[in-house]
Amino acid sequence: MHELSVAHNVVEYALSEAARNNSSKVEEIDVEVGELTQVDPKVLSDALALFMTGTVLEGCRARVVVADASFACRKCSCEWGMPEIRKELERVPDDLKVREPDSQELPLHFLPGLYSAFIHCPRCGSSDISALSGEDIRIRRLALA
Ligand SMILES: [Zn+2]
Repeated sequence: MHELSVAHNVVEYALSEAARNNSSKVEEIDVEVGELTQVDPKVLSDALALFMTGTVLEGCRARVVVADASFACRKCSCEWGMPEIRKELERVPDDLKVREPDSQELPLHFLPGLYSAFIHCPRCGSSDISALSGEDIRIRRLALA
């Protein structure tokens, strides 16, 4: 239940910011979660609502925004993002794919630890790659009333 601890930290941070600014209400929180973080946006949204209940955060608009992943090749310095990654993931054998019911999306967040096994540099084919983005969880916006 990674989402619960993320939600708890976000709410704790927002509460301390509200207290620090003598604010009795928080209007909006935007949380950005990278596609490689293994955080389910829906579960995180629900967990945020749960922790906000009964605090000055209750009733605020909390949005969870998924940030795309991008990669760089250590061999040839090529950089690429989601369109190429989705193309690569199409080649992953079907029985290794985990899909949400009712969704044709390839949920990259289910295989962050495995990306280096499936994703190769689109230019030179090397698997010696690193993630440039998509691994962070951060509060992008916090609007106090
Ligand atoms: Zn390369």
